[in-house]
Amino acid sequence: MKSLAVLAIALATLSAVSAQCPRIINRAGWGARAANTAVLPNRPAPWVVIHHTAGSSCTTDAACAQQMRNIQNHHMNNNGWADIGYNWCVGENGAAYEGRGWGRQGAHAPGYNHQSMGICVIGTFTNNIPNQAARTATQRLISCGVSNNHISGSYWLIGHRQAVATACPGNAFFNEIRNWPRFNPNP
Ligand SMILES: [Zn+2]
Repeated sequence: MKSLAVLAIALATLSAVSAQCPRIINRAGWGARAANTAVLPNRPAPWVVIHHTAGSSCTTDAACAQQMRNIQNHHMNNNGWADIGYNWCVGENGAAYEGRGWGRQGAHAPGYNHQSMGICVIGTFTNNIPNQAARTATQRLISCGVSNNHISGSYWLIGHRQAVATACPGNAFFNEIRNWPRFNPNP
């Protein structure tokens, strides 16, 4: 009886941990081009850098997958990068899209690429914040990363504009993330 109770608690804990992860679309799921990027030197990542794409938003799986392919093509063809720059992107369909992914060095914020997970939300958030689905998915993705030791439990969260002069992640979204857990106003 006692061991059954312990087992039940263990199973409940296990499901609670995996429940923190959002719906994840891996690279094959959005039709990513093959790429090989460097392993993140500083793991688990001590920083999380939030971005917007400054482009169109998406609310369907088809539209978000298309956005991911567009961004990857732009980063590889126009910028000459090895892959899409972000580690993860989140759509307003509530899904998290694997960019370079966990444990890989991104190309998104000078000074932080070797020590962070760069997470973008697909869209332009100058005047409006991402919808509830995207905000929840982004926060779950961070919790998921911490639970699986891809992000440090004592991580700090910043917006891209705190690393370099840029409007990213948009005025409205930046004001929103200032209220998120682990936000660092003075990185
Ligand atoms: Zn950015």
